[in-house]
Amino acid sequence: MQMQPAQLEALKKQLKGLKERSPFYAKKFEGIDLDDIQSQADFEKLPFSEKADLRDAYPLGLAAVPEEKIVRIHSSSGTTGTPVIIPYTKKDVEDWAIQFARCYEYAGVTPQDRVQITPGYGLWTAGIGFQAGCERLGAMAVPMGPGNTDKQLQFMIDMQTTVFTATASYALLIAEEVERRGIKDQIKLRKLITGSERAGEKIRKRICDALDVEYYDIYGLTEVYGPGIGINCEHGNGMHVWSDYVYVEIIDPETGEVLPDGEPGEIVLTTLQKEGAPLIRFRTHDLSRIIPGSCPCGHDEHPRIDVIVGRSDDMMKIHGVNVFPSQIEEIISHFEDASSEFQIRLSHLDGRDTMRLYIEAVSGTVDFQDLGRRVGIAVKSKIGFTPLVKVVELGVLPRSEKKTKRVFDERE
Ligand code: ZN
Repeated sequence: MQMQPAQLEALKKQLKGLKERSPFYAKKFEGIDLDDIQSQADFEKLPFSEKADLRDAYPLGLAAVPEEKIVRIHSSSGTTGTPVIIPYTKKDVEDWAIQFARCYEYAGVTPQDRVQITPGYGLWTAGIGFQAGCERLGAMAVPMGPGNTDKQLQFMIDMQTTVFTATASYALLIAEEVERRGIKDQIKLRKLITGSERAGEKIRKRICDALDVEYYDIYGLTEVYGPGIGINCEHGNGMHVWSDYVYVEIIDPETGEVLPDGEPGEIVLTTLQKEGAPLIRFRTHDLSRIIPGSCPCGHDEHPRIDVIVGRSDDMMKIHGVNVFPSQIEEIISHFEDASSEFQIRLSHLDGRDTMRLYIEAVSGTVDFQDLGRRVGIAVKSKIGFTPLVKVVELGVLPRSEKKTKRVFDERE
């Protein structure tokens, strides 16, 4: 990605005096004079930041401003160990709301809309991000928070909400529930905005068919503001990332080399305006690519990243082959008699890696054994080994309100 001149200027400003403001960066960039960074090539020589570095700064070691300038903290949902704490200044909080409001605008949300917000509030960045952006835009926020599906559906009907925001898993759960209860004609939803986990084509189609909504995918992560740093436009071709706030690089996850536009790799983000906790070359471990060329919407100043195909740390090594859950999802999506849900369990038996793949049949009339056999053959031909496929009834695999865990590695 060619760094825009305005981005280089913002970056230089971000780097100016950073080592004096931040003990974290004083240590990270020891021996480097940040005033020497005068071009994109200079910038690309700077070391990456990893989540582990951020964790080591717990609790407030990332702060690059005096304490009195910090107005809020958020914390990333670390599954294990020490969380990462991100401090925000007043400007950071406002900048985040500006970006989030822009996401809603790109999705065609207007002040006439009523936005039902189901992501969680609190330390997590999701709920409050969706809310702040909604209020900044001037739409009506219906701040439900997660859970309580009965109440969600009741409010969806009584408040006549037009925009639903959720994780893809929860949107699926709601879509299936709307179908099951036969209340489609009582709801007024027109748009769905999901964040925090990727959803394959099949899940999207299932949700859109059941709810009759336009589907928007928001991008972001707690370490870099939170959700709201990018969204797909009406043309749906990748997510525009706000270039005035964030600089995007795609790198080879093995070598760290910056890759040309179009090539798949790991997303690395640099904040251009952040005060509380600036991030320089932060490795997200999200796998995607920059979509080359122009978007029909004309907003080429905001580069597009493709659908996130997985996380570099989700990669499974089975019989020496690298496998991503998204590949399994892709394969299953071609089977009309299988649902979009799946679960992978890896075990080590008698000196061999074994993958058990659980999938759902869409109805009781499906021949479970035959479906399992056909999926097994497809995995073998596309990826190179045969999994043990177990077909279960629709609804048996767990749907969650947050991210659905699909891979369980039970090997030593
Ligand atoms: Zn566009």
